[in-house]
Amino acid sequence: MIIVVGAGPAGIAAARCVLECNLPVTVIDDNPAPGGQIWRGEAINLGAAQLLSGTRVVAIDGRARTVLTEGPGGPRTLHFSKLILATGSRELFLPFPGWTLPGVFGAGGIQALVKTGLHVAGKRIVVAGSGPLLLAVAALLRRRGADVRLIAEQARPAALFSFAAALLTNAAKLKEGAGFAWTLAGVPYATGAWVEAAEAEGHVRHVHLRQGNRRWVEECDYAAIGYGLVPNDELHSFAADSEHVIPVPTGDVDLATLEGAAAGYEAAGQPRPSAKLERARRFGAVLARAFALDPELRSLPKSDTFVCRCEDVTLERLCGWDSFRAAKLHTRCGMGPCQGRICGPAARFLFGWQDTSIRPPAFPVRIASLVTTTLATNGETS
Ligand SMILES: Cc1cc2nc3c(=O)[nH]c(=O)nc-3n(C[C@H](O)[C@H](O)[C@H](O)COP(=O)(O)OP(=O)(O)OC[C@H]3O[C@@H](n4cnc5c(N)ncnc54)[C@H](O)[C@@H]3O)c2cc1C
Repeated sequence: MIIVVGAGPAGIAAARCVLECNLPVTVIDDNPAPGGQIWRGEAINLGAAQLLSGTRVVAIDGRARTVLTEGPGGPRTLHFSKLILATGSRELFLPFPGWTLPGVFGAGGIQALVKTGLHVAGKRIVVAGSGPLLLAVAALLRRRGADVRLIAEQARPAALFSFAAALLTNAAKLKEGAGFAWTLAGVPYATGAWVEAAEAEGHVRHVHLRQGNRRWVEECDYAAIGYGLVPNDELHSFAADSEHVIPVPTGDVDLATLEGAAAGYEAAGQPRPSAKLERARRFGAVLARAFALDPELRSLPKSDTFVCRCEDVTLERLCGWDSFRAAKLHTRCGMGPCQGRICGPAARFLFGWQDTSIRPPAFPVRIASLVTTTLATNGETS
């Protein structure tokens, strides 16, 4: 059985290509319905694929070719012939004074909330961080009646110029960009700019912005701040050396769909070269360069700013350690409910630390999962 983990655009494309090759496929996703980040709430037809929704893969044994899942029926071990990991990405948050206040969201976070019912009509919103996602989010907020005060993009004009040049060679993206420009007409777009701090009276009331030497304050009801995406690749490390496991690199929806399709054909034993995929990868590389984070952002958190918001670990407590593992052991950074998914990438940017201590299970699991399966690898569990 071919198993696909993730029912976002990549996983859906992968499953459809496996079915096209007349092979059975099971798709596992931890959300209540398929769609992933971007097709959330849309009606998705997965044809003859078996779909296990509300089910999370928490560990992989590459040698035994099994995945351990937790779902509505409790823990299960499923065997695979090929495993496609289309687990997508999450937002990168960089800590700054006030980033944990009520009303300060991730840019994609507020997008997801609006898609699932948050009313923003009439709300003053500052959108900040980095990447084209900011435009998609700001456009959605404006269409829903929000007063988008400003988009603060950390990338500098010179870097954005290369992105604009690449857009000119990509008709679909150019059209999308033109649509955003139309929707966002009149909204200031500040480049080389970022939110330095947020302040609240119970709820965020204003943010402090900086653009070079210029500093100003913007009043707002919400701040939507995200610094791009980081891959959900925790599972990948459990089976990095297995030829039966195919990780799908993620990106924007077009790249994700093409990468997913390529993985589906590969899993089915019918790989197909795709010029479209090569083009999308080149565009993705330009995007990554254009929106690379400014090293000055490392000075955003102050000594008393929480970096690990689950365990209340401040920047000050992290300084002095030389690895994420050492910091984790001495401060509990990364040991809270999110298991380092938020502070890990932030610490990587701030200190250059890689978290090399990921062991199965990749998520907090029920005791039943630990005792009823062969989860323990080499006698270790985390
Ligand atoms: C908050 C946010 C907003 C975004 N908005 C846009 C946008 O507006 N436009 C755009 O082009 N791109 C957007 N992106 C980028 C977006 O991720 C891709 O465009 C697209 O969703 C990628 O598809 P994917 O299938 O690779 O990942 P996803 O759509 O993220 O799908 C991955 C799926 O795998 C599931 N999953 C992960 N781990 C497990 C596990 N262990 N067990 C079971 N299921 C698991 C996830 O819950 C998810 O449903 C956004 C990303 C984020 C994080």
